[in-house]
Amino acid sequence: MLTGLHLLLTYQCNSECDHCFLYCSPRSQGTFTLNQIHTLLDEARKINTLNTIYFEGGEAFLYYPVLIEGIKAAREAGFNAGIVTNAYFATDDEDIRLWLKPLVELGISDLSISNDPYHYGDEKENPAARARNVALELGLPVGEIHIDEPTISKDEDREKGEAIIGGNTMFRGRAVDKLLEGLPTRYWEDFTECPYENLESPGRIHIDAYGNTHICQGISMGNVWQTPLSVVDDSWDATTHPICDPLVKGGPAQLIREYGIDHENEYVDVCHCCYQIRKSLLHRFPQYLGPPQVYGLE
Ligand code: SF4
Ligand code: SF4
Repeated sequence: MLTGLHLLLTYQCNSECDHCFLYCSPRSQGTFTLNQIHTLLDEARKINTLNTIYFEGGEAFLYYPVLIEGIKAAREAGFNAGIVTNAYFATDDEDIRLWLKPLVELGISDLSISNDPYHYGDEKENPAARARNVALELGLPVGEIHIDEPTISKDEDREKGEAIIGGNTMFRGRAVDKLLEGLPTRYWEDFTECPYENLESPGRIHIDAYGNTHICQGISMGNVWQTPLSVVDDSWDATTHPICDPLVKGGPAQLIREYGIDHENEYVDVCHCCYQIRKSLLHRFPQYLGPPQVYGLE
């Protein structure tokens, strides 16, 4: 049951974090126009179960006027509205109030701020912390997104005390190119299910300015500029999707078997395996996998 729509307002970001699973950077393309947001909201209103629209990226505050107008339109359409940001703009308390006050007036239900070692290292006094303090002072509902770097420890519960990876980094996107070194790996046939996404009945999806409807980053249910969002949602059937069907039946291992793909023997985790296999299928299924930039291909 679809309850949340996450608009990737832009793929562009002032940062270029090693763990970014959308491969965002200052050079990224793909930003929503206000007109596109209105089109999408008209469709969103037809989906009775939908209650929340998030605006994220990339860095949504880079396109501040469009962000504000988009939230205003979402609120007028009757949705809760949330934002995800790295708070790069938070240089001084008085200035932060200027950025955040309109959000108070619009009645947003969540301001999620990324604050972790990937974004600001060990700095305690950083823009995220400053933005959080001012947001709380203004009475905004604030959340924090904190991604820990990978750690390695022994799993005493397992037979041979196998190494396990701690932290909550997802090994997709740039993380696969930047963060795998030295991490333990597992045999590909172990990866028989997707543990994170409900591919048969997604509760939330991400949509980019190209129209891709991401059920997981880089897997598109359909293109909303070709097929209206309400139809994409209503007609969703994972069994007819060439990537989701094998993933539901047997995880990335099934994807490998189904398409007879050359592959490594071992991967760091299930998402690493899934991402690498999908990347090698990109040219075969460009309408279901993409855009190429989230696979690090410009
Ligand atoms: S993780 Fe967030 S802040 Fe970092 S590059 Fe990606 S979108 Fe930007
Ligand atoms: S990368 Fe694959 S295994 Fe990981 S959450 Fe996404 S669909 Fe599931």
